[in-house]
Amino acid sequence: MPKHKLLQIGDITPRMANRLADNFDIIEYFRSVDKKKLIAEHVKEIECILTDGHWGVPDNLMERLPNLKIVSSYGVGYDAIDANFAVSKNITVTHTPDVLNDEVADTAIMLWLAIYRNLIQADQWVRTGNWEKEGAFPLSKTVQKQKVGILGLGRIGETIAKRVKAFDAEVHYHSRSKKNNNYQFHASPKELAKNVDVLFIITPGGNETKHLVDASVLKALGTSGTLINISRGSVIDEKALIKALQTGTIGAAGLDVFDAEPVVPNELKNMPNVILTPHVGSATNETRQAMGDLTCDNLLSFFKTGQVLTPVPECLKLNVQR
Ligand code: NAP
Repeated sequence: MPKHKLLQIGDITPRMANRLADNFDIIEYFRSVDKKKLIAEHVKEIECILTDGHWGVPDNLMERLPNLKIVSSYGVGYDAIDANFAVSKNITVTHTPDVLNDEVADTAIMLWLAIYRNLIQADQWVRTGNWEKEGAFPLSKTVQKQKVGILGLGRIGETIAKRVKAFDAEVHYHSRSKKNNNYQFHASPKELAKNVDVLFIITPGGNETKHLVDASVLKALGTSGTLINISRGSVIDEKALIKALQTGTIGAAGLDVFDAEPVVPNELKNMPNVILTPHVGSATNETRQAMGDLTCDNLLSFFKTGQVLTPVPECLKLNVQR
């Protein structure tokens, strides 16, 4: 059987390359010096794209490749892929939900604990010799019995909720729909923010959620409020967030995602009440391996059976029709 031509966007792991080797000829897009020539050479042959949540499908490639059948993305967030356009062209889009829920929830909890208990400053206290010179480290804030808000009670949001229950938290949330659970639903992000001590943001990115957290939501969170963003930079008005942190409108923030990654505003880097991580929500060897396997399984299954394991919701209809 001839191999399928696969356009690879971004990096893949050696394990993924091995798993795909028997069935796919991999053409590396971003490593190519002359991308136009590369696409012109293979335009009719490329049947699939392997990408990730960061790069998505750039340069109108879905329009330019007439035989493209499937885009398999390594990551759950697919705001960088125009899934509705893909559906209109009968192109299936897949992503990697669920296998990363625990890891991303752990990262969110890690940021929360680090902020409340002043982890970074405590580490510095020891390293700089302050413990010997100045004595005991200042007291911090407990994570027990807090009012915890979750903006986006989906797969990862639910996993965060389970974890914060272990700290005897009172769980509040806002999402598009009210859920059948014992958590307290609020009709808007602002109402949610008004009622909690710490607010976890874990909606998808994209136009629908752009600046869902704006200056008014931050004001509602209040001077002692903490914000944790583990979703996408676009969900928060970053300028408003910087101002809110500078003026004490909110107390602190833990941020894994940013508007113009990997560029992070200096204002955020210079604030002691902010903890920054470089989009590492799912970034452990174990979870990335599971994500890589699912990314490959979707491609392998598509060409073997016509079905995929984890289509994005927009493509569920396509998957049934094939
Ligand atoms: P999910 O299961 O689809 O959950 C998304 C939640 O957001 C749902 O509760 C949904 O509401 C809610 N939502 C969507 N649009 C909304 C809106 N306009 N207003 C209010 N709520 C809205 O997705 P997931 O698997 O939990 O993943 C969530 C996101 O996390 C991903 O899309 C990705 O951007 C991000 N993520 C980040 C990292 C990282 O490394 N930092 C890693 C993985 C994922 P309904 O329940 O009512 O539909």
